[in-house]
Amino acid sequence: MAWDFSTEPEFQEKLDWVKQFCEEKVEPLDHVFPHAVRSPDPVVKAYVRELQQEVRDQGLWAIFLDRELGGPGFGQLKLALLNEIIGRYPGAPQMFGAAAPDTGNIEMLAAYGTEEQKKRWLEPLLNQDIFSAYSMTEPQGGSDPNLFETHAVRDGDEWVINGEKWFTSAGRVADILFVMCTNGMFVVPRDTPGVEIMPEPRNHNHIIYRDVRVPLDHLLGPEDGAKVLAQRRLGGGRIHHAMRTIAQCNLAFDMMCERALSRKSHGKVIAEHQMVQEKIAESYAMIRMLRLYVLETAWKIDQTSTQEARTDIAAVKFTMARVLREVSFNALHILGSLGTTDLTPLQAMYANAPTMGIADGVDEVHMATVARRVLRDHAPHEGYFPTEFIPYKREAAWRKMKPVLDARPDLAASAEAYQRYFAIRRR
Ligand SMILES: Cc1cc2nc3c(=O)[nH]c(=O)nc-3n(C[C@H](O)[C@H](O)[C@H](O)COP(=O)(O)OP(=O)(O)OC[C@H]3O[C@@H](n4cnc5c(N)ncnc54)[C@H](O)[C@@H]3O)c2cc1C
Repeated sequence: MAWDFSTEPEFQEKLDWVKQFCEEKVEPLDHVFPHAVRSPDPVVKAYVRELQQEVRDQGLWAIFLDRELGGPGFGQLKLALLNEIIGRYPGAPQMFGAAAPDTGNIEMLAAYGTEEQKKRWLEPLLNQDIFSAYSMTEPQGGSDPNLFETHAVRDGDEWVINGEKWFTSAGRVADILFVMCTNGMFVVPRDTPGVEIMPEPRNHNHIIYRDVRVPLDHLLGPEDGAKVLAQRRLGGGRIHHAMRTIAQCNLAFDMMCERALSRKSHGKVIAEHQMVQEKIAESYAMIRMLRLYVLETAWKIDQTSTQEARTDIAAVKFTMARVLREVSFNALHILGSLGTTDLTPLQAMYANAPTMGIADGVDEVHMATVARRVLRDHAPHEGYFPTEFIPYKREAAWRKMKPVLDARPDLAASAEAYQRYFAIRRR
């Protein structure tokens, strides 16, 4: 019997350490020095490095990276258990060397980079000596990569890139940009002449690449391989988002329960009002379902591959956005007016739900993927009626049971009697 939902004690110790470290060190840092990891202040940076050394000493640095790519190689299931703790604290992924968009870019570099490319970019990215961004989406189209136009042309010992990208997260503060072109994935240092970052939007940047020249060895992976690299990058990222979303949902749920037990209305604590109980019970069940689905999908990836688990990764992707929306809405609602302010994390969490349904591919595209892939295991029926049409089933049952009934006249007589009885009832 292989089903087992328990965590091995040695790994549970790691999880306990992570929880305590996040509560005692990461959360206070988030409030006192928001975005500390990127702070230009050397004193803050030195303190961050001290905390990160504690993470390294626990063997928990860059936890997302497989062993063959140079990481600790926990696998996706253990990573899910870690992420459902870390995801509660905005600054924790960076504190563990596991924050997007660097994680996906690191994965691409580790999987497809040459030794020279890894030395130049992977090592400093892993050490957070530099930061990166991912430039794929274009203003004229995001969901359909066939609409992308950014292109590189070879000119002597350089590539010349022209195109326009939209919503490159943290592009403005990145040292290097991974630019998806129609004919390959390129690494472009942000300060290369011709990289023009538009003033708006502030955090997810609109970037024009105008005659941007990079040496030939800035092509990552094979020429024309951009879509394969992008799939590799995004596949892992989606399930990691889902793991952290469980943490966000748990945070909303804890806040909802605390408030329900603390607040009185119409003669009782609101936790005793049935409509509040409904929200709590439904939220609880939704989070449990999401968690089981994420853990099962993570387990499947460990047993097979991201590619093999693609249907479930896509289904998890749109499910998490929905669960986050419902649970954060319920929590916000139960906190009443306070929930609508920015004095708790709930309003930002609720506003983030539609974002989760768009980032890393819109939900509709993932739903279409799921439907297309699951339909491969089904076939149309013949004739007018479905396979489960009861008269067909009955006829088939009689055919199947005929040898038994032929061999046992007593059973055949009973079958005839049943037949007559049900024929009367059906009239
Ligand atoms: C927070 C955030 C961070 C992001 N970071 C990055 C980043 O770092 N780098 C980067 O390159 N991009 C990034 N993106 C962009 C993201 O990849 C795109 O937003 C996404 O691919 C959708 O593209 P779009 O915004 O152009 O929407 P569109 O493609 O225009 O889609 C808009 C709507 O059209 C409908 N639609 C589209 N296609 C279909 C379809 N096939 N079937 C049914 N309905 C459909 C859906 O309702 C969809 O929501 C980020 C987005 C967000 C929200």
